[in-house]
Amino acid sequence: MSKIGIMGGTFDPIHLAHLAMARSALCQKNLDQVWFMPSKHPPHKDSSRVSDEKLRSLLVQLAVKEEKEFVYSDYELKREEITYTAKTLTMLRKEYPADEFFFILGEDSLAQLDQWYHPEIILSHAVILAVNRGNISLEEMERQAGTLTDKYGGTIEVIPMKRLDISSSMIRKKLAAGEDVKDMLPKSVYEYICTHQCYRVG
Ligand code: NAP
Repeated sequence: MSKIGIMGGTFDPIHLAHLAMARSALCQKNLDQVWFMPSKHPPHKDSSRVSDEKLRSLLVQLAVKEEKEFVYSDYELKREEITYTAKTLTMLRKEYPADEFFFILGEDSLAQLDQWYHPEIILSHAVILAVNRGNISLEEMERQAGTLTDKYGGTIEVIPMKRLDISSSMIRKKLAAGEDVKDMLPKSVYEYICTHQCYRVG
């Protein structure tokens, strides 16, 4: 049996905080692997405003090469419909019945989980590992986790991580303005974005 973390994301683009979250979950929960799974049609985002999946997935593939336990997964990209996490985890459980799944998410997602498609299905198939972002306290995250598990069952664990003030939207804005983002990205991702002038306007 393997303990597999699923790091789902729009990854537009993937950045150092995504890798740090996965590493925190991997180390603190003794996971065997973390699968980085870019969303094809994220349920909560307007697809026309999300960058092409080829670019997002290529950058994820470059980033995961930095650690041997990190694995790129096209599991959601291969599906045409909106990729609800509940459906993804249901399919994974069927396909990998011997393995244990952990879904890794950030604190904003934890606060929104009640609005997601069938949280009770998500919590029946995976332990949720909620990594802090620094905008609310760990105690507040624990409180939210308790409210959710009282309502839906399952397990949610809060994973502390050093605050990293990085977001994909901040990176896109800086790149569009011609600003440098070297300290926010894995080296290989930074080099690709610079060489191919990605996320530039016009
Ligand atoms: P994203 O923007 O690429 O981010 C991926 C994760 O990284 C998020 O949980 C985000 O936390 C976290 N993160 C980013 N920067 C961080 C930082 N500096 N410190 C700590 N955490 C940081 O991906 P996303 O668009 O939020 O999607 C995440 C996953 O949730 C995807 O698999 C998506 O399909 C799934 N989802 C499912 C549903 C549904 O099934 N109905 C609805 C929404 C999302 P934050 O949560 O704090 O932003």
